[in-house]
Amino acid sequence: MELAKIVSFLDNYLELEKFNDVSNNGLQVEGVKDINKVAFAVDACIEVFEKASMIDANLVVVHHGLIWGGIDYVRGITFKRLKFLIENGISLYAAHLPLDAHREVGNNVMLLKILGLNANNPFGEYKGMKIGWMDEFDEPKLLDEIVKTIEAKLNVKTKVWNFGNKVKRVAAVSGKGAFAINEAIEKGVDLLITGEAEHEAYHVAKEGKINVIFAGHYATETLGVKALMGVVEKLGVDVEFVDVPTGL
Ligand SMILES: [Zn+2]
Repeated sequence: MELAKIVSFLDNYLELEKFNDVSNNGLQVEGVKDINKVAFAVDACIEVFEKASMIDANLVVVHHGLIWGGIDYVRGITFKRLKFLIENGISLYAAHLPLDAHREVGNNVMLLKILGLNANNPFGEYKGMKIGWMDEFDEPKLLDEIVKTIEAKLNVKTKVWNFGNKVKRVAAVSGKGAFAINEAIEKGVDLLITGEAEHEAYHVAKEGKINVIFAGHYATETLGVKALMGVVEKLGVDVEFVDVPTGL
């Protein structure tokens, strides 16, 4: 399948033009025209590129790309990464905030779907846009029960701040989402699910009496990448997920 066809599908499907992002979303590195296979991964790094090359993929779609606002210097690690892609004819496509926020395949709706919830209310104001989602259970649930479900689904050990009561209203912001704790408290959220813990958020969460589950920056952001992979597969191209966890 032609690279241009996949890129234009992704640009439209992910509504790239709606986002004001620090990531340069879209096709960041242009390789050969014909795509055999598309590799999906969370991070643009040499290990992902090498694994993609080994499985004969010549387009890599990632959540965290290589170009954030612009390239200052093409040297050191950046040089080696770009050299590997260019020498192997591999294209790199990045989707950062558009893949957090997407209503069908975004990291945040996928986090809620683990619990049987959905993208009902936009949540998580970031640079003037809502990148997360909020929903409610019909009946309040125990935090422990929710933790078990998330750990089983993501295959991680979570960090939990158990500062609230039973959980009815849930919000999700993957990755570094602790910035949304104040908004969650204001909106009466009982549980915020995010990726990485942030020291400065601890006392805010405690005083705001809110529960927070940190399920890992990497793990929470595999969800959108994998869901997007399912959509791209339906275009009729081979796809494969390349798992390179950071443990964070
Ligand atoms: Zn991230």
